[in-house]
Amino acid sequence: MYVTRNSEDTFLFASAIGAHLLPGDTVLLYGDLGAGKSVFARGCARVLGVFDEMASPTFTLMQPYKGKTGANVYHFDLYRISDEDEFFASGLQDHIGTDGVSLIEWPQQADVCPEKRIEIDIVRAEDFDGREIEINMFGMDDREEIILSSVRRWEKI
Ligand code: ADP
Ligand code: MG
Repeated sequence: MYVTRNSEDTFLFASAIGAHLLPGDTVLLYGDLGAGKSVFARGCARVLGVFDEMASPTFTLMQPYKGKTGANVYHFDLYRISDEDEFFASGLQDHIGTDGVSLIEWPQQADVCPEKRIEIDIVRAEDFDGREIEINMFGMDDREEIILSSVRRWEKI
């Protein structure tokens, strides 16, 4: 488990992970409203060269960005999906696992779960700005170790 002290710290934590992401990767972001999923998504995107302001894509379900590193970033927020058919009918899921890094808030709303994925679970800690973060990786193979070593300074001992 990892601990961040404030939103800037979560942003940096996410940047450390984002630095290792490649087109085709997917990050699933779990956590309650206000947990910091969007902060995390911005940190990941920034290190991939996205300098645009990233508003919450609440009405579009997915907002694409072109990072200055050349990477596409697909920022999904599935919070408002009422049923998953609505999402699958949109075709937006076709971006996942292809030519960009997909950052997906509320993936459970549409049962999105590609085989290769990083799951991030953010929970409020007892003190106001603290967050406890879990990382679980699936199918990331030889990148798992380097990703974990890049966030070691946030590890709770
Ligand atoms: P979510 O997308 O999970 O609904 P947001 O990222 O939009 O949440 O908002 C998180 C809010 O909590 C922001 O206002 C942010 O400033 C605040 N915050 C306070 N502490 C933290 C922290 N450690 N990590 C992330 N956000 C934090
Ligand atoms: Mg959000």
